[in-house]
Amino acid sequence: MSDQAVPILVYHHVYPEAAPELESAVGDSAAGIIGVAEFERHLQYLGDNDWTVVSTSQIVDWLRGGAELPERAVALHFDNGWLDTFQVVLPRLRDNGFSATCFPITDGIEAASEGRSAAVRTLTEGVVDKPFMNWGQVQQLCDAGWEIGAHTATHCRVADRHEEEGDAGVVREVEVANALFRRHLGFTPTHFAYPSGSRNDRTDEVLSAYYRSLRLWHFEWPIRWSFTRADTPVDATDCQNIDLRVSFADFQRIFTSEATD
Ligand SMILES: [Zn+2]
Repeated sequence: MSDQAVPILVYHHVYPEAAPELESAVGDSAAGIIGVAEFERHLQYLGDNDWTVVSTSQIVDWLRGGAELPERAVALHFDNGWLDTFQVVLPRLRDNGFSATCFPITDGIEAASEGRSAAVRTLTEGVVDKPFMNWGQVQQLCDAGWEIGAHTATHCRVADRHEEEGDAGVVREVEVANALFRRHLGFTPTHFAYPSGSRNDRTDEVLSAYYRSLRLWHFEWPIRWSFTRADTPVDATDCQNIDLRVSFADFQRIFTSEATD
């Protein structure tokens, strides 16, 4: 069996250098945030070191068997569907010939499409009211070759929702989100990312009926390096959270034997 360790890098906000969010980002408020200069440094590093940016589907096809993956494969995930993913990330990835997977919160995308704001609770930022992209912008990601994954309708903590409402509460999140994806994009996503990493064995079962893969999420300090490997279950693909707290030296460590040993 291959001992390949595939990094799935998860970003949230990527802000222009002048953004006030970057100036005030220290300690915990730096969670889920990175500046565009540092982000471009990451892209440059991947290109310079011959890493191939692959899609989530390529990784899942590899896990399920039968599909080849390049030796130095890495995937880029952008969670929540923030407007800065469209405005800041999309053009940079296009310049580098890279694509990514975006996991939008459909309530946020609906709100932005109707000119409303939407407050959501995130583990990294607490309750925030930040601009989301609209459906037209999500479509432009698709047109650029990005994959779109599901991330619930409301960004609920799925294990908590299951505790409160059982399977029906989880199913409702999935079906509300998937109906909106079908209506606005014409397809249902095949990959799911757990908001705030909140899951349990039963939610894995319920969601596996809808999606080909379920992605974990976590951040820890000090950093725990985590990869998706050939024996990683498709309902627990692992990822590495990337934000301002990850120094460039640490970022490089992901791609060297220091992290994979
Ligand atoms: Zn999220």
